[in-house]
Amino acid sequence: MVQTLQKAVSEAALILSEAGIDGARRDASLLLANILDADTSIFHLEPERVLNDTHHVMFQLAIERRASREPISHILGHREFWSLNFLVGPQVLDPRPDSETLIETALSAQKSGQEITSILDLGTGSGCLLLSLLSEVETARGLGVDQSLAAIEIAEQNAKRLSLDDRATFLQGNWCDSIEDKFDLVISNPPYIPIDDIESLQPEVKNFEPLAALVGGADGLDCYREIISRVKPIMKPNGMIIFEVGAGQAQEVSELLEKADFSVISCHKDLASIERCISAYF
Ligand code: GLN
Repeated sequence: MVQTLQKAVSEAALILSEAGIDGARRDASLLLANILDADTSIFHLEPERVLNDTHHVMFQLAIERRASREPISHILGHREFWSLNFLVGPQVLDPRPDSETLIETALSAQKSGQEITSILDLGTGSGCLLLSLLSEVETARGLGVDQSLAAIEIAEQNAKRLSLDDRATFLQGNWCDSIEDKFDLVISNPPYIPIDDIESLQPEVKNFEPLAALVGGADGLDCYREIISRVKPIMKPNGMIIFEVGAGQAQEVSELLEKADFSVISCHKDLASIERCISAYF
């Protein structure tokens, strides 16, 4: 069947929008551009170009996957975070733009004098937080821990792809277990969704992202409690901890830190003005 790029995108966008996807045209364009190994300007530059049969079939398959609400990052196999390209998949949490708030918080603390030579990332997933920070702080080294071996394998590949594997190490483990070094920065975006809220999440999240990276117990705060109760012995004096928190959790996580005698507890908002990160000092 002869089909131009323009027509292929329009038809696919209709299918995606009927499947309830916001930004259907953007997703259709991204998927086709990826198959053509081009960027999306190709649709403006060559709208009448004819799609060959192989690309046509590949595009149909990609659109079927997206219409079933599989995240676009899983179909493309990668996701951009902090302007870096990360391999992702069903093994790891998809990096969210909101999480860039944590990177900004760490970098602004460094500007104000916080030492960042050793970073520990608890629940590293794709490694996006640790590797983004290492890309900015060239003198730092980091350790990423995750209970999932499949996640560690992705994080290690990401470190190699970004040429950061000489400064990043990854370890399978349960939070602070078996860590002996002391760090001047600990970061974590732990699973924080209350178990009963999972059902109401978008299909892309509840059907395709790893549950273990999402659920934080009955009230969503289990992982914060566990990390806060165990992290001090592996922090350097004057060390800093930065957590990402879910919308509405800032107050409760600040209180947990306060009860554990952390000091200078501060909230940091994301671009939507939601309190997204909490930082505190040992
Ligand atoms: N640290 C990773 C991220 O921020 C994974 C977090 C998680 O699995 N909860 O994307």
